[in-house]
Amino acid sequence: MAADVVYLDNHATTRVDPRVVEAMLPYFTEQYGNAGSTNHAFGWEARAAVDKARGSIAAAIGAADHELIFTSGATESNNLALRGAAERLRRRGNHLVSVTTEHKAILDPLARLARRDHDVTLLSVRQAGDAQAGLLDPAQIAQALRPDTVLVSVMFANNEIGVVQPLAEIGAICRERGVWLHCDATQAVGKLPVDVVALNVDLMSFSAHKIYGPKGVGALYLRRSGDNAVRLAAQIDGGGQEGGLRSGTLNVPGIVGFARALELCLMEMNEERERLAVLRDRLYAGLAASLEGVTRHGPALEQRALRLPGNLNCGFAYVDGEALMMNMGNLAVSSGSACTSSNPEPSHVLRALGLNEDQTRATLRFGLGRFNTEQEVDFAIEHVTATVKRLRKLSSMSA
Ligand code: PMP
Repeated sequence: MAADVVYLDNHATTRVDPRVVEAMLPYFTEQYGNAGSTNHAFGWEARAAVDKARGSIAAAIGAADHELIFTSGATESNNLALRGAAERLRRRGNHLVSVTTEHKAILDPLARLARRDHDVTLLSVRQAGDAQAGLLDPAQIAQALRPDTVLVSVMFANNEIGVVQPLAEIGAICRERGVWLHCDATQAVGKLPVDVVALNVDLMSFSAHKIYGPKGVGALYLRRSGDNAVRLAAQIDGGGQEGGLRSGTLNVPGIVGFARALELCLMEMNEERERLAVLRDRLYAGLAASLEGVTRHGPALEQRALRLPGNLNCGFAYVDGEALMMNMGNLAVSSGSACTSSNPEPSHVLRALGLNEDQTRATLRFGLGRFNTEQEVDFAIEHVTATVKRLRKLSSMSA
């Protein structure tokens, strides 16, 4: 990609850190063994690398080595957690609880389970206009639990509006009621402190490519100790890798890169959180100062603990959303809608905040990350301001 394109879409994916690439390279060309080969040194070396990575990633989230399995990404981890638990616990009950603002990799597997014979309750969140917009009230979880509830799934941090859910409180409720809690922590791991034991989380999904690691590798944590330890029905059968829960040859370079990526995130987390929050606040302040009709979606920026540091989601009044996106030029950002050009669907997350179609039409999601600079943020302010002003002028001329 041209060097003059500014990338502010770090919730979608991140550039792989050169230090991660460096750690991965030998596993493509020299230590290329199959971690399942037990008869020669190539296999042993690959196995040793996987074991080391597993230990390091597990420790980073407060888990034991045998509580972590590798997958192809958070989508697969979510599917395995939801479908695997629902199937395994079917005789105990068929009620599942989640939230309207979850990622599609949660909502779609739940919808499929509901089409078969599960009963799914989706809880709503605080509405737009509230300083805590997007937040789930843990009391709602307590009220939703029934004798036949087998699983609750709540994301850690939202990929569109950055809201951070009160997982520890939700975890305490679920643990007390003996219901497993799954957490999609894809946007949180590596960016915020995450400890599965302190949170009372039983299952947790996350992914390497959101934390400056490679695409196509993820993990699922499963609590293996204590009462009512997690057991799942496998969804992919074959060679029996990962304790029979996820067959398929392990992505050794990917796993090594995943561990290195998370290690770097932990090392740099405190400074990075602060730096990104300052950059994000600068971006919003710049846009709000130079344009009328800018609305911030999600929790207030002052509520720092409630929002991912690099996340900003804004609506722009009096512009067409599609035209806005098409004019982003050298600025790589995301729209608040799943755009198919003929039918731009408003984001289900923004709709779940109670925003109407008008309010969700022209929205941009900014995701700041490790490689972004103040100059890039200033470029984004100038570019979005100029574009919105131009589009407003054009539409007033054609009105
Ligand atoms: N959950 C959340 C919250 C996400 O942001 C994403 C990535 N957009 C996913 C799940 C899916 O992750 P992956 O790309 O690793 O399958």
